Amino acid sequence: MSKDTRAKQTFPNKEAHWNWKDKPAYSAVHKWLVREYGNPEVCENCGLKGKYNIRKDSVEVWNIEWSNKTGQYIKDRKHYHGLCVKCHIAYDKGS
Ligand SMILES: [Zn+2]
Repeated sequence: MSKDTRAKQTFPNKEAHWNWKDKPAYSAVHKWLVREYGNPEVCENCGLKGKYNIRKDSVEVWNIEWSNKTGQYIKDRKHYHGLCVKCHIAYDKGS
């Protein structure tokens, strides 16, 4: 499976990501991250390995997300780390 195919399957539409409405700049950068690097393979916080989860509407979503860690939404890999959904929510609440 190519990286491109995986990227499309991860976020088939904007609504698939709960965070995008609040941070419009993140949408474009997130697409860039997935295109360049694919999905994060592991959560850098808890070590959880990435896998596809099936949502209620039968869409497959990757369970590790790119999370911004500097507050700068720019196209640079070092400003992001892979976090599972659980750690991502906890991380955003704590920042
Ligand atoms: Zn985690």
